[in-house]
Amino acid sequence: MEKNNEEPESPRFSSSSDGSATRVETSLGGVYRIRARVLPYLTGFVHLAPFEDGWALIDSGSGTEESNEDIERGFEVVRREFEPTLDVARVKRIFLTHAHVDHSGGASYWRERTGAEVWIHAFESRLLTAYDACARVENLRYERFLLESGVASEKIRGILDGFGFRPGRVRETEVARKLIGGERVGDFRFVYLPGHSPGHVAILFGDVVFSGDLLLSKTLAQIWPSRATPQTGVVNYLLSLDELRRIALEFERRLGAKLTPLPAHEEPIDDIPRATERALRGFERRNRRLLALLEESDAPLSLEEIANKMYWSGRPNREFFALSDVGARVEFLLQLGLLEIVETERLSADNPVLRYRRALFSDAESAENTVEKILRANRARYDSEPVERDAELPRD
Ligand SMILES: [Zn+2]
Ligand SMILES: [Zn+2]
Repeated sequence: MEKNNEEPESPRFSSSSDGSATRVETSLGGVYRIRARVLPYLTGFVHLAPFEDGWALIDSGSGTEESNEDIERGFEVVRREFEPTLDVARVKRIFLTHAHVDHSGGASYWRERTGAEVWIHAFESRLLTAYDACARVENLRYERFLLESGVASEKIRGILDGFGFRPGRVRETEVARKLIGGERVGDFRFVYLPGHSPGHVAILFGDVVFSGDLLLSKTLAQIWPSRATPQTGVVNYLLSLDELRRIALEFERRLGAKLTPLPAHEEPIDDIPRATERALRGFERRNRRLLALLEESDAPLSLEEIANKMYWSGRPNREFFALSDVGARVEFLLQLGLLEIVETERLSADNPVLRYRRALFSDAESAENTVEKILRANRARYDSEPVERDAELPRD
């Protein structure tokens, strides 16, 4: 395993001698961050935090042999170097931030290994209890999305087999509690923050938050078109990011301390408001690039053509993520009236490919600050002056 040299230099973080685990000091004692190769091209982290007279495991890796072994080794390292009484059998709960395979694929293995209850948001619990059935439906929805995007039908299987939900990919397991959001148990509080996935939760614990894939330190979180996966999409994602920022600011205002997110990939983030700001700016830049591409193009473009122009990097694995990202952005910009679909009269089941251009009547101003507009609109829902209650009511 590679030496872990990504963790910040801070007295709160002490790395194990081989770098596979890190102790993080929190206001409620030490929590542990265990590194695992969750997919051949992806490193992730699971976390251990004190729960009752034992531990809670936050996320479970992907369930591949390599991922399970890395986490097993991480437990051993934590026991040897930090927590002599740690024992896999003392894990009482498995809390999942969401049901993407790199977080939930290991749930059945760790449930059997520890006897712990698995908790996940209601919107994603069937991805654990009835994965194969869900995977087939998700695949069908995604297949339609890819056909609409202009991807040749013979390429679709390969794209979905690589990354999508694939029947047989995850071993199904029981869910003991379906969360909605707002629950508290022990020192944990679950906050519903959808967008990156339909039932994504962040889990607050003292002055840290296990933030899953909502906000990463180096890259932008993956987004998905909501017409392929309901409760994802740009608007849900942006509102959740803004809510995380609000929670962090509120935490700081009330307790005079910073809330530190422990994301499931990349290194921890030391300042949520600054990191959200950076993510939102990056998000806006990509929207502008997409709009500029369509502005400069002589002909309307399909999603596949836009994805190729925006993201083509020669790596075959990127296609699925690039198409999903562009699909989500185009959906959003279309909703804002900045794009339009052309030649709709020629669309049919045999010819489902949607092509886009800049909307003829959209002014330059409305293409600025697409992200800020949505955030402001959302805050205004709560900030507006109370309406005169009786003013509009008919009287007799
Ligand atoms: Zn994810
Ligand atoms: Zn992930």
